[in-house]
Amino acid sequence: MNDMSFDGRALINGERVAAQDGQSFDCISPVDGKTIATIARCGSADIDRAVRAARAAFEDQRWCGLAPAQRKRVMIRFADLLLENADALALTETLDMGKPVKYARAVDVNSAANCLRWYGEAVDKVYDEIAPTGKQALALITREPVGVVGVIVPWNYPMIMAAWKIAPALAAGNSVVLKPSEKSPLTALKLADLALEAGIPAGVFNVVPGFGPEAGSPLALHMDVDCIAFTGSTRVGKQIHVMAGQSNLKRAWTELGGKSPNIVFADCPNLDKAVEAAVGSIFFNQGQSCNAPSRLYVEASIKDQFLEKALKLVPQYKPANPLHKDTVMGALVDKVQMETVLRYIESGKSQGAALIAGGEQVMAESGGCYVAPTIFDGVTAGMTIAREEIFGPVLSVLSFTDAADVVKQANDSVYGLQAGLWTRDINRAHGIARALKAGTVHVNQYDEDDITVPFGGFKQSGVGRDKSLHAFDKYSEIKTTWIRI
Ligand code: NAD
Repeated sequence: MNDMSFDGRALINGERVAAQDGQSFDCISPVDGKTIATIARCGSADIDRAVRAARAAFEDQRWCGLAPAQRKRVMIRFADLLLENADALALTETLDMGKPVKYARAVDVNSAANCLRWYGEAVDKVYDEIAPTGKQALALITREPVGVVGVIVPWNYPMIMAAWKIAPALAAGNSVVLKPSEKSPLTALKLADLALEAGIPAGVFNVVPGFGPEAGSPLALHMDVDCIAFTGSTRVGKQIHVMAGQSNLKRAWTELGGKSPNIVFADCPNLDKAVEAAVGSIFFNQGQSCNAPSRLYVEASIKDQFLEKALKLVPQYKPANPLHKDTVMGALVDKVQMETVLRYIESGKSQGAALIAGGEQVMAESGGCYVAPTIFDGVTAGMTIAREEIFGPVLSVLSFTDAADVVKQANDSVYGLQAGLWTRDINRAHGIARALKAGTVHVNQYDEDDITVPFGGFKQSGVGRDKSLHAFDKYSEIKTTWIRI
């Protein structure tokens, strides 16, 4: 099914180049365990070369010096090119990280293109300000690009995570050096080709693949990078803030892990919808979503009924080859991730939770990385599967009888990315939505999303917000200019 070939070299200053020391690594597909590409294993010399190219492009104003209407046109062309190449991009994403091709096409490609278009459209619609000082002087408040933005992204939504950062960074006039995850580098490299084809000048958008400590750290530590925008685990996110502080105090934005609670009250307006959302959202992308509602709190009086309905839905999520057009549950990203998830499942069993669905590797004969959709009932607050981010298709079900207590339990986490809440009682919905410590609260649904709303977390789920006009501020310096009149 796969007759595609991929260029795994870095893209620096408008050219595809091998790593300076000639190192490379294999890109292995989790669909069937086969090697699909050879990727440049970049290190600090390559990062330095890319940062120098980005700096040169910034200083000679190759991009930020263009008229906003011109930058807008180029970014919209970039978005169009994603759609023109949608099938190839979707297939690449599926081969690279195992998600069902139908979602790679309908969700990943479309969202990434939409994000580029939305920020492109915004380029000539963001105005600067004059402060209302009342003095005989004008105080102009203007935005300027920060300069060189380093971007480090994870593997779960490779194109979308990249687009959420490069689109506002480019729209604000910056140059970018992107390091994709070593587990899924292919579509980022393709994006860089398309950016060039769209007319983004050489050096403005560079992609340097490689491993975290070898390529990510030199980017976060680089003295000539002005801003580092990171999405990934909380563990590495903390290191990013340290590296930013240790080097040139570059601004650091981090979008990190989650263990999102989803609370279903007995007066939930539509139980079937609540069940569908609870099950569908944890199993989407094989559970590898930062905002997956992985802790489900169901009011005790409806828990049996809820779980009966949930178990009826589970067979729909039977893993299958993600290249098939109807597959809804594909492969986990690699063997390491699969083994991590299987270890969490073992910990759930050994700590006394009741395994009521899944709980094992499947399709081992394919050579790929597949785990059955898994549900644990009888989970209690202290269990590892209730506390740690599993990042796999594993739902932990807890029950409650007291509203105040469930909010306390929901907030008892180092994370604060998202939360769900199902009730017919509007007063309760408002009260609990305010009390939940989460960047986004979903009431009576869990899947709404839009480029116009900010995305990010409280607590150790990160610092800053992606998406919406708020993201412009991350990639802009604010300057005040006083002019005596
Ligand atoms: P990860 O932290 O292991 O890696 C993320 C990126 O950081 C990769 O590109 C990796 O190569 C790089 N990296 C690793 N070590 C590094 C180091 N020492 N210095 C610099 N860079 C380094 O995370 P992951 O396993 O790729 O992704 C899963 C995590 O991402 C989960 O915790 C998930 O919740 C989180 N995530 C968060 C969001 C969000 O918006 N909040 C979105 C998607 C994923």
